[in-house]
Amino acid sequence: PRDTETVIRPLRVDGSEGFVLTTRDVTDRRLLRAELAETGLRDQLTGLNNREGFMSRLRQALMTGGGDSVAVVLLDLEAFRGINDSRGHAAGDSILRSMAVAIDRLPETVRAAARMGADEFGLVVVGDQIGPEVGVIERSLHRSMRGLVIDDGPAVDVGFHCGYVVRTMRSDSAPDLVERADLALSAARTTRSGAPVAYESQMRAALVSRLRSEADLREALDQERLVVHYQPVVDLARGVITGVEALVRLRTVAGDLVPPQAFISQAEELGLIDQVGIHVMDTALRDCAVIEEVLGSRIRVAVNVSPEEIDADLPSRVADALVRNGVTGERVMIELTESAIVNHEDAAAVLADLRRLGCSVAIDDFGTGYSSLSYLVGLPVDEVKIDRSFVNRLGASDRSLALVRVLLQMSVTLGLSVTAEGIETVEQADILRGMGCPKAQGFLFARPMALTDLLAALQRCRGMFPCPDVTQSVGQTRPQ
Ligand code: C2E
Ligand code: MG
Ligand code: MG
Repeated sequence: PRDTETVIRPLRVDGSEGFVLTTRDVTDRRLLRAELAETGLRDQLTGLNNREGFMSRLRQALMTGGGDSVAVVLLDLEAFRGINDSRGHAAGDSILRSMAVAIDRLPETVRAAARMGADEFGLVVVGDQIGPEVGVIERSLHRSMRGLVIDDGPAVDVGFHCGYVVRTMRSDSAPDLVERADLALSAARTTRSGAPVAYESQMRAALVSRLRSEADLREALDQERLVVHYQPVVDLARGVITGVEALVRLRTVAGDLVPPQAFISQAEELGLIDQVGIHVMDTALRDCAVIEEVLGSRIRVAVNVSPEEIDADLPSRVADALVRNGVTGERVMIELTESAIVNHEDAAAVLADLRRLGCSVAIDDFGTGYSSLSYLVGLPVDEVKIDRSFVNRLGASDRSLALVRVLLQMSVTLGLSVTAEGIETVEQADILRGMGCPKAQGFLFARPMALTDLLAALQRCRGMFPCPDVTQSVGQTRPQ
């Protein structure tokens, strides 16, 4: 069969009337037009629908979905830009095509799939059990995107974030659903687990306030208003400084210092903690050289790392910072909390990699989390920092005294070093010294201070702490 187009015109000749029918074969033209319309709805690279194609398929599904639920699922590849930049656009294209192939293999509940933007994909899912169905889809895609080999390069695991929304009212339109799925995807981007996040109605308000604090925190990062203070760590027997702990603060535009508890968890939620961490690490490594020069001896600088920063890339981020600042790994101690280590499957591997760089690893705030001494045996750590809540109660609580004593005895067997945190009184220092605690940190010795104040204190006191107030006159007796 051929398609034709017929034009009919009236005709009058010599008083008689008739028609002229002109018929043309338009088959080829129609095919071409259909193809063009189709390409307008398709993504050339992956062969999936594009955004317009997706919207039209979604509208169809909403009209014909029957009694089943209809969901919009959005997926967004993690670290895609990084791969594109480091391994070239061809590698990036391969990854996008691999994702399309993986999507093709999904069960039939996926009624339509599209590449919505650069590295974002959309699915229309129809079924009666959408939540579990999205879980199945997400796991299947994760399996497919693991260990991709591109251009004979090293295998890469491509992760993604997943947000979705289920239609709740028949009046929900296609654009409404895509917008809500987008909000769920934004929420999913702030998690590291990669688990699908379902849309919730409070997400819009949360997004607005998040965008505001995100802007504040980004501005602080851009304007270098994140400052690092240093608190000396001393050898308890001799009072000599052996290192410093880098503690971040945010300086407001008005010039006030905001303590880390007020913004670290926010930075974690916003996915900005890596940037904060790198900034602190760079600053601390740079300042380490200055401190050593004034002191005339080597020290170790301790940097706190959030649970959210622990991933397979952490060692390479630390390695880059070491190279950038011309510092060897031996000068750096990474502090992690117990819960960060316990809650992370690959923590042991990450810690082992950090130690291969020469860095040492400390468990921070020991005693406040799981306090399971048994895991200390298996983990590649060098040091334990006893939380200040135990140090506080040393004179008053037998339990604290017992914990500190057991820990100190065990650390010898395990070859671990111990630092007692938050020592404020001479009595606490004496008890700890008596029990053989090797290192100490606390207001009794020195508060966290800006680099210039620390340098002044070091000069005045030749690296010994407690150090008389740095503002006192130089003529005073110095500790020997
Ligand atoms: P932390 O790592 O346990 O740091 C020790 C905290 O105890 C510091 O609080 C320090 O000022 C405080 N401290 C030290 N000696 C004494 C003392 O004698 N008495 C009392 N009452 N407090 C003392 P800061 O600077 O407010 O930091 C709080 C927490 O914020 C840190 O606890 C650490 O977990 C986190 N943090 C600080 N800087 C960073 C950072 O760069 N990255 C990350 N992820 N977390 C950070
Ligand atoms: Mg710490
Ligand atoms: Mg601590």
